Amino acid sequence: MTLMVYDTKTRSKREFAPRTPSGVLMYVCGPTVYAPAHLGHARSYVAFDVVRRYLDYLGHRVRLVQNFTDIEDSIIRTAGQHGIKPSELAEMNIRAFLDDMDRLNVRRAEVYPRVTEHIPEIVATVKGLIDKGYAYAADGSVYFRVGKAKSLGTLSHRDIRTMMVDAAQTTGGRENPLDFALWRKSEEGQPSWDSPWGEGRPGWHVECFAMSTKYLGPAIDVHCGGTDLVFPHHESELMISEAFVENWCDFWLHNAFITIEQEKMSKSLGNFVILRDLLSNYNPEAIRLCLLKEHYRKNVEYDRDCFKRTEEELAHVHEAIEKAKHAEGPPSGGKADAVVRSTRTRFFKAMDDDFDTADAVHVMLQFVEAVHEMGSLSKDEGAQITATFDDIGKVLGLFGAK
Ligand SMILES: [Zn+2]
Repeated sequence: MTLMVYDTKTRSKREFAPRTPSGVLMYVCGPTVYAPAHLGHARSYVAFDVVRRYLDYLGHRVRLVQNFTDIEDSIIRTAGQHGIKPSELAEMNIRAFLDDMDRLNVRRAEVYPRVTEHIPEIVATVKGLIDKGYAYAADGSVYFRVGKAKSLGTLSHRDIRTMMVDAAQTTGGRENPLDFALWRKSEEGQPSWDSPWGEGRPGWHVECFAMSTKYLGPAIDVHCGGTDLVFPHHESELMISEAFVENWCDFWLHNAFITIEQEKMSKSLGNFVILRDLLSNYNPEAIRLCLLKEHYRKNVEYDRDCFKRTEEELAHVHEAIEKAKHAEGPPSGGKADAVVRSTRTRFFKAMDDDFDTADAVHVMLQFVEAVHEMGSLSKDEGAQITATFDDIGKVLGLFGAK
């Protein structure tokens, strides 16, 4: 069995292998914590939790780092509206985020670095970029010199012309309208940190690279985020990385959106469903399973009924699990053995095909039907079926698997 993983950069599925036998180094871009998590976040973090679980299941030791962007314009603005400090707003949302993810059985990362706790590392990275000619200071800010980057356009596959239109927010001091801020001069009364260029705060793209390097070393195996991060965030990270290391990341994974009337669900578009509201109305396991019913690279149209339907399905799944656990009857006459074997083959084949949870869930539900249809099961057969549910649960993060 070979795990094939789709890489956004090469636009192809490639056989997965970590760079070193010691384990898989994985960085997932975390949320900007200015608001509670919505369903779109849940989809992304559940999808990458399954990626991590499956790599673990295959015997790779995964080290996962996921940041919190805890200082940003939206955080400053929202905190101001509530009359609290940006750090208080961030703290509140970080706690809520971790709590929501715990309820969805998303395993915690090894490290959750926060931007505000890594200013020295970020400043050092920005200095390094200036030393290498990749960045320049202007008027208290520092900008990345996009024209110097060979990797420009190699992740998002956009041509420069399109990018020029996208990056239209030119302000004074930039050599080129595409150049993005690595360090931003702070405005009066806003949180700021000391730097060689004066008081300011870091730009988004350099944060992730600096924190990834600190906790995972110069190069990583897997980098994940939503499709909306491909450009400009990940493309900018890639351009930053080329100043320090060749081929920083081997596999770039991006999940598609949850849409509402074909539009991406996002806080900024205002068409979002707050995760906490769903968690108080539906079984978290059903929400998780519902999110896994489509391949992570495919858009899914929001369907509230899915949670209800999946709750009913799950009840049926748990009945099958109980039946197998307590089996003590006469054997099924070879039926159980055949079903277990074909389930395992098909389930792992689906997972090996770029973590195709849509197919894997389908196989799991067929297995449940088959277990119900088998009249009686012997104790041994029950144990075989239980072990199969255990493995499926470990990979998909269901049935109480840690
Ligand atoms: Zn990031």
